[in-house]
Parts: sequence; C-alpha cells; structure tokens
Amino acid sequence: LRALVIDGPAAIALREIAAPNVAGECRIGVRMAGICGTDLQLLEGYANFRGTPGHEFVGVVEEVTSAGDQAWVGKRVAAEINVGCGRCDWCRAGVKEHCPHRSVVGIRGRAGAFADFLSLPAGNLHELPDAIDDEIAVFVEPTAAACRILEQVPFEHGSRVAVLGDGRMGLLTAQVLRTVTPDVTVFGRHEHKLNVARRLGLATHGDAPFDIVVDATGRPEGLQRAIDLVRPRGTIVLKSTFHGESALAPWPIVVNEVTVVGSRCGPFLPAIELLASGAVQVKPLVSRVERLERYEDAFEAARRDLKVLFSM
Ligand SMILES: [Zn+2]
Ligand SMILES: [Zn+2]
Repeated sequence: LRALVIDGPAAIALREIAAPNVAGECRIGVRMAGICGTDLQLLEGYANFRGTPGHEFVGVVEEVTSAGDQAWVGKRVAAEINVGCGRCDWCRAGVKEHCPHRSVVGIRGRAGAFADFLSLPAGNLHELPDAIDDEIAVFVEPTAAACRILEQVPFEHGSRVAVLGDGRMGLLTAQVLRTVTPDVTVFGRHEHKLNVARRLGLATHGDAPFDIVVDATGRPEGLQRAIDLVRPRGTIVLKSTFHGESALAPWPIVVNEVTVVGSRCGPFLPAIELLASGAVQVKPLVSRVERLERYEDAFEAARRDLKVLFSM
C-alpha cells in the first residue's frame, strides 16, 4: 500500500507501508482525495505533523474488524474527520470536534487519505447517494465545513454577505451561503478564479457595508479587510485556518460592536444534500486530477489553482 508521508518541514515522500488493521475500525480503500489549504500548511511544518496528510476523500469500505460493522463493507463513503475519546464531556454531548483527546484524519495523530487505504471508526462514515460521483464526493467534507456557518450565524433572507477569498473555500462557502440569502459577493484578486465565481452566478463586485463578512482568504490581512467591510453590529466569520500572525487594528470591532466567530468542521448531512441536489456546484472548482506519484506537481498546482484531486 502506498502512502504520502510527511517526515519533517517540507519533507514528503511516497512510501510503501503496511495496510492498516485497527481494532474497532473499518479499512477504507481511498478512491479520490482533495488537497486543501490545511494540507499545504502541514507541508510547511504547521503543527509539526508527521505522517500521512489528507482529510477530504471518498472511498469504499473494504474490511471491518468488528462484526457489528459488517453492513458497511462495500459501501461508498465520505467521513467526518474528528475521532473523539467517547468518554469526555464533549464526546458525551456529541461534539467530538472539541474532544481534548481527539485525533483528526490527516491533521492530528491519525493517518490521512493521501494513501491507498485509511482506517476509521464506522461512526464517522456517511454512505453517499449515486447522485454524488467521486469527484463531487471529495467536496463533502469542505462543504460541511461551510455549512457550519449556517449553524453559527443567524442569516435572514436578504442578509448582505461578503466572502473574502476567491479560492476553493471561498467559492464553496459563497455557494452554500447563497442557499439562504441571494445577496452574496465574492472578493478576490485572481481573475481566473473570479471568472469561475461568475460562471457559478456569484457576484464579484459589491459595496460595503455588509451584514456578514466571511474571511476565507487564508492570509494575514483577511481579518483587517473584513473589519473594514462589515457594518456596525455585523458579524465576521473566520473560516480559513491561517497559521501566522496578523497586524491588526482591533478598535473598530469595539466601536462598531462587531461579532467575530471562528468556524471549523460542520455537519455532513446538509452538505450531502446540497451536493446531491446541485445547489452547490463543485465540478467547476476542480483544476486538476493527478496520480499519487505526481504529488509534487499536485501540491504545486494546489498553491496556484482551485481544487487539485488525487485519484488512487
Ligand atoms: Zn480541508
Ligand atoms: Zn472525548
């Protein structure tokens, strides 16, 4: 079995490793996996991650270790990426995303999907309908992350929304938010990505102030720009995990009584519905599909383009 393995900052290689066989978990054969900004940051040394990255994937359950999971064998699935301890207060409340003992697929203490196989508990899996083919299915996890905003921020039909960032997360988030309010504007500075936004029917020009501003730039200046664009008593959502510091003049947050919300992983069922119905279109976001052995080209392309996928 092949897996991409990070051994240190900017050190990644394709290795032969043993097939996973973890008691209580399912072995999933990976069919496709998507590269996201977090993977690029892990490659640069963020969180000192060692091991196999990749957390956006579609696969087929090939083997289970517990008899109760037998029905999963042969199912095509996407998967929630946080695995909780099952015992702490967060896990008991059903919020494994904040379990202090959690592992996270391809990000924290658990092998990821840039490999032929990975291992996960059945409780993390979601079977996919036929309406979602493999290329679409890779987007279930990031679409769920965009759906998290709908749980956190009260939208009204007619709310004026700005999404900062014309990258894969920005274009995905803008489409998800458009399902609850038509007034969504994407701000970006890459003409080829803004063209994709316009083909998706998204506005790329709009006047401040906005009721809700989502920062999906992945850049240090994103938050300051959001502060400039949001109306008094409006809401800023921080959607991209930017691992660095930003120079910031925070006083307008106080003077304008702005709410700032951090937002991470989200619910899979609404994401699967939005993708199956076509309300969120992801094929225009696929820039390239690569074999695993061409990982160097794939990561390079992911730094410039929209979504780059591995096909196993
Ligand atoms: Zn991601
Ligand atoms: Zn826990």
